[in-house]
Amino acid sequence: MEGLKEQVRQILFNKSRIIGKVESGKKGPAIVFCGGIHGNEPAGVLALIRVFDTIKERKIKINGKVLGFIGNRIALHKHKRFIESDLNRLWTSNNIHKLHNTGFTSNEITSEKTEMIEIDELLMSFIKGTEAKHRYFVDLHTTSSTTIPFAAIDRMKQSVEFAMQLPIPFIINLDEFLEGTLMHYLDHINFGAMVFEAGKHEDPISVNIHEALVWLVLYISGAVAKEDVPNYEGCLTLLGGINEHPHQIFNIIHREPANNGSFRMAQTFVNFQPIKKGDLLAYNGVNKIACQHDGFLFMPLYQDQGADGYFIVRKAQKELSIDPIHN
Ligand SMILES: [Zn+2]
Repeated sequence: MEGLKEQVRQILFNKSRIIGKVESGKKGPAIVFCGGIHGNEPAGVLALIRVFDTIKERKIKINGKVLGFIGNRIALHKHKRFIESDLNRLWTSNNIHKLHNTGFTSNEITSEKTEMIEIDELLMSFIKGTEAKHRYFVDLHTTSSTTIPFAAIDRMKQSVEFAMQLPIPFIINLDEFLEGTLMHYLDHINFGAMVFEAGKHEDPISVNIHEALVWLVLYISGAVAKEDVPNYEGCLTLLGGINEHPHQIFNIIHREPANNGSFRMAQTFVNFQPIKKGDLLAYNGVNKIACQHDGFLFMPLYQDQGADGYFIVRKAQKELSIDPIHN
């Protein structure tokens, strides 16, 4: 990890937000990857560095164009989730309106709003001239607890079709519980978009899993040929091989907030662990929090920062109702 961490440092010192950008001039998809929108999650950035290095070294031909960028540069530099507010909760309708119309007033500007403005400029210039139906976006994250690789998407046709091609379970209604994700914004500008969670923050395997996901996305979107994916079978195994729920679709049915720093999980849980109503899950100060529904535990919080204590998810019905247009 050390060598790669040094590369992250170098990228930040060079003040570059862009990790890599390749464009062939040939017809094809427009694909965007974001790493480090949470500054304590460098694995996605490290994986993107590796992928763009490989593309360059092996002179891999790309159809369309691919962009990889760093989300929260200052927070990543300081190894903190965020500086003033979570950059992955700022992309609300209200803020997007300000971004594209009135702008922010000087007293609204924070460290993260500055990042937001720059990211938006980058995205707007990247999508110029690209076809809406061939846009893909993946936001690369890691979690504070151990997890199988999984994705979260909004209930949109192009995002479901995108996610179904990958051997990972996904959560389909994140937008009902989390406002202002970057993914939500990418939905609005017509990307097939997903949040991808590779594994635990500090685990070097999380970098490998991100790398595998990036390659598979490049392949399924038609940006690279299958034979150009280094170790295609290995990528599939790395993503799906340790997974009990490949292709399962889950709904969030409960969100437990973690407001004032007094929240803690009652024990070490694993993401997607089956749970029963009444199980002791967490404490809020001295108060016990019992599990509200039968289902699977999702995203238990094991760090100081974060507004979401845990979620409870259930397998969704086979027949999905999918919104053709996001509201
Ligand atoms: Zn994250």
